[in-house]
Amino acid sequence: MKLYYNRTKIVATMGPASAKKDVLLAMIKAGVNVCRLNFSHGRPEDHKAVIDIIREINEQYKTNVGILADLQGPKIRIGLVKDGGIHLVNGTHIKITTQECIGNDEQIYITYDTFPQDVQANEIILLDDGKLQLRVIETNKKDTVICEVVHGGILTSRKGVNLPNTKVSIPSLTEEDLINLQFALKYDVEWIGLSFVRTGQDIIELKHIIAQSGKAAKVIAKVEKPEAIDNIDEIIAATDGVMVARGDLGVEMPLEEVPLLQKMIAAKCRAASKPVIVATQMLESMITTPRPTRAEVNDVANSVLDGADAVMLSGETSVGEFPVIVIETMAKIVRNVEEFGYSFNTARVSDTDPSSPDYLSNAVCESAVHLAQHTNAVGIVSMTTSGYTAFQISSHRPQASTYIFTSNKQLLNALSLVWGVRAFFYDKLESTDQTIADVNGILKSEDLIKAGDVVINTAAVPIIKQGKTNMLKVSIVE
Ligand code: PEP
Repeated sequence: MKLYYNRTKIVATMGPASAKKDVLLAMIKAGVNVCRLNFSHGRPEDHKAVIDIIREINEQYKTNVGILADLQGPKIRIGLVKDGGIHLVNGTHIKITTQECIGNDEQIYITYDTFPQDVQANEIILLDDGKLQLRVIETNKKDTVICEVVHGGILTSRKGVNLPNTKVSIPSLTEEDLINLQFALKYDVEWIGLSFVRTGQDIIELKHIIAQSGKAAKVIAKVEKPEAIDNIDEIIAATDGVMVARGDLGVEMPLEEVPLLQKMIAAKCRAASKPVIVATQMLESMITTPRPTRAEVNDVANSVLDGADAVMLSGETSVGEFPVIVIETMAKIVRNVEEFGYSFNTARVSDTDPSSPDYLSNAVCESAVHLAQHTNAVGIVSMTTSGYTAFQISSHRPQASTYIFTSNKQLLNALSLVWGVRAFFYDKLESTDQTIADVNGILKSEDLIKAGDVVINTAAVPIIKQGKTNMLKVSIVE
């Protein structure tokens, strides 16, 4: 199957609009690299059906489409309301209660048992993506909080609640998340996303459960709370990747701060060699129209320029009317920036602590990128079992293509999220010379390199020990 390879990857959220084999196949041909299963919606059997379709396509068309299972985390909602919608009037008072009830203009139910204990007077409560705003007047510290309506409007059932000022005591992984996590791990998804991450410890706990289950799924920290911004360094250190989840981030933080936060997070992630996804409302208008707004086109292009490893679509591909056209559009925007060319300052080894066990392999990866540039190499060809080398090389954003060979099948799909990386299965690892000849031969047979091209190979020598990358070779393809 002929695929187009953008370097900046595309993540598409699955839903009724895309969960059919013919549609998904067309989306993959147009540029989807990773499919996101949003566990805030859909039944387990729906997610399982999508997993089966993705695996079937990978098998049949030799693609490496990865799966990101996105756990809801401690998302707070209101309950059902009378007649499906109630009108909150500015200046009036309304009670928020932890006693389950059908909401009316006097009281509404919240799915957060310790809310009256955690909240303080004057804190802000945002409803329905921030469209409605309340202010806390007083709490009885038991089951009821009295609020004033600051910005009113129609409130419909089960809308999301954001509490930007409140120290929320709900655990980062809810009971429902733990069930969904086991489900996702059972089907060996490559990435697990955790919503509303607050600290590095949230990620450490999730990773511990994954390891205890004997699985190797990698973790994406969704940054969407002010606390996550405060703790961004420890979160990046703990996680395998980050999502700038601009939907909730733009509710919990002042909206005007989101563009610079996106740039700050992208720069920190690249410096730490952790992939970063920019998400939400990228081509929102394409849910209902076949052409995006100019501002949306700018947003996708600028996210690429900010250094995103991947750009993500949500409603556009899960419930939108044009799931294939939206991928074609996004791929074209990305390609146009990439063809024009963009570069980052990549000199970083001096930032790595020389006593770190990764210092030497980081230096080899960085040198591979510099050498590729000096020799006009067409490819950097590396071997990895854990993926570490691939993440390192990618983070220097080489001009040369990055070809990664691995015997770790799950990693093939996981690397689909990582900027510029194309992964291949290879499990012979006999001798260094033989392995390099083999992998270069595979690339030649795939027409990715040709006789006379310069390539840079990296490896961990002795190759059978599969240690850390410590070797660099320049060769001319025969
Ligand atoms: C977001 O808030 O931007 C996001 C991606 O999360 P979700 O779609 O789960 O709300």
